[in-house]
Amino acid sequence: MKLIQCLLVFTLSICTTAHGVASESIPDFAIVIHGGAGSASTDSELISAREQALSAALDKGVEILKQGGSSLDAVEQVIRLLEDSPLFNAGRGGVLTAKGHNELDASIMDGKTRSCGAVGGVTIVKNPISLARLVMTETRHVLLVDHGADQFAKTLKHPKIEIVDPSYFKIPAQVKRLERVREKERLSDAEKMGTVGCVALDVHGNISAGTSTGGLVNKKHGRIGDSPIVGAGTYADNKTCGVSCTGVGEDFIRNSVAYDVSARINYMKQKIDKAVSEILNREDHPVRGGIIGIDHRGNITIQFNTVGMSRAAADSSGLRLVKIGK
Ligand code: ASP
Repeated sequence: MKLIQCLLVFTLSICTTAHGVASESIPDFAIVIHGGAGSASTDSELISAREQALSAALDKGVEILKQGGSSLDAVEQVIRLLEDSPLFNAGRGGVLTAKGHNELDASIMDGKTRSCGAVGGVTIVKNPISLARLVMTETRHVLLVDHGADQFAKTLKHPKIEIVDPSYFKIPAQVKRLERVREKERLSDAEKMGTVGCVALDVHGNISAGTSTGGLVNKKHGRIGDSPIVGAGTYADNKTCGVSCTGVGEDFIRNSVAYDVSARINYMKQKIDKAVSEILNREDHPVRGGIIGIDHRGNITIQFNTVGMSRAAADSSGLRLVKIGK
């Protein structure tokens, strides 16, 4: 109970500073990105490297949206850049399982049609977000996992799907991190890297959302988190909003968090800020992590109840934010 109380007090103070990013008029386009909840590093080099990576990803997304590109393209391209960076828990920088290898999860959703695609536990695909998008467009399914997903990737022979050796993902920082968890040492804040996610609203009024992750460090072989579960870690519906989540995946799955944000807007007529804040502050079923979202009017929300969250946002009215940590 004490822990919950602590968490809630902290949440409130963070939330009040974190989500005041909405612009007054309805923007033509808007984009918001997270680089994972939990990050409160004091290592200035790491902070500035992450800032630069987020800033470059934001620029890419803005460029696509400014030129009239689709929110789906913006979300996919932004996430690909973050997956290629070793600084985030996704793609190259994904954390290792208890067995010492990578099992990557990702999902993407198109708010115009509610089409969606997802992959879980992939081990040889450089950019799981692109594979998720191809599950959406090239199959009649929503979620492919494990060998089936890797196999699908191989047979596609698609320019966006690069097959890599699993050693590509075994970067020294993650090997060290797993060793420290195994030795039951407390991880320093600097090592708490997170999942990546992006939500975008394009000039055609379409909202898309996507999330990509290595999951939780030292996770059991075969464990799937919220990130590839549509309705838990990712959701998009043009009528309501787009959402991407980060944090303890099991909390987000139990509470269908991403869909809950949309449902609260749809049925309860809540504003996106309130919907997200109520979910992150609830006492009965705690949800530990962070949520980013954009509603159908272009209002951006960024909230978290952890020590920090890497985040970035921009819109056509001139808003631009890039922030790491608190
Ligand atoms: N939500 C992710 C998972 O549980 C982890 C994270 O966001 O850092 O797999």
